[in-house]
Amino acid sequence: MGEDFLTLAQLVDIVHFAEAGPVNPDASVDIAFIEGSISTPEDMERIRRIRANSRYLISIGACATAGGLQALRNFSNATEWVASIYAKPEYVQSLSTSTPIAQHVKVDLELWGCPVTGPQVLAVVRALLFGVPPWYEKDKVCLECKRRQTVCVMVAQGVPCMGPVTRTGCGALCPSFGRDCYACYGPAENPNAESLARRLEGLGLSPEAVARRFLFINGAAPVFAEAGLKRRETAHD
Ligand code: SF4
Ligand code: SF4
Repeated sequence: MGEDFLTLAQLVDIVHFAEAGPVNPDASVDIAFIEGSISTPEDMERIRRIRANSRYLISIGACATAGGLQALRNFSNATEWVASIYAKPEYVQSLSTSTPIAQHVKVDLELWGCPVTGPQVLAVVRALLFGVPPWYEKDKVCLECKRRQTVCVMVAQGVPCMGPVTRTGCGALCPSFGRDCYACYGPAENPNAESLARRLEGLGLSPEAVARRFLFINGAAPVFAEAGLKRRETAHD
């Protein structure tokens, strides 16, 4: 956010932001921005407390909106994973799933992205300060490519791009540098994941490779999980 953060600090009182200094986890606030997923029993209890103390609760980032990369555990045996990674798994108290905030408490707005951008967060704060509903992107990254007149990497280079099913907000950052989108902003509105999965197979990707494209940063988002798990089952048949 750079210097914009200083401007923001003049417009609002920042009462809890451990990384920036103020610590007051049980303060009553107008806006609570939540990062991270619910992956421990303590998280579940804490998010209910924050919800009770907040007028608006906004989840930001792939972990808070979709469960994040750590939600890969949702599709396998989490207990086995912990045991294979940690020398003393009995000290690790994590849930067998990583889930988004909205699965546990009412969320007023979700800002997708890994990570979200400063302008996204500032636009939301500004809208709320003016008393109007925040506006946020739901279009697909492809539309952003067209607006920028960026050459499509999937058409021109034959690389497997996730842009047709991914929500924009990044300004089609990766295609603008000639590389494929890997869906860090999560599913767009009405994505046709099945159709894209078939297109990726048409480009030569194996079912497992297609599954990995979907089961990634936002892999637990239902529409991505469905497409990815279907390909994974095919790969294991
Ligand atoms: S580069 Fe990717 S996001 Fe851009 S138009 Fe092509 S498929 Fe869509
Ligand atoms: S183009 Fe795709 S992977 Fe790249 S920043 Fe945007 S949403 Fe994320």
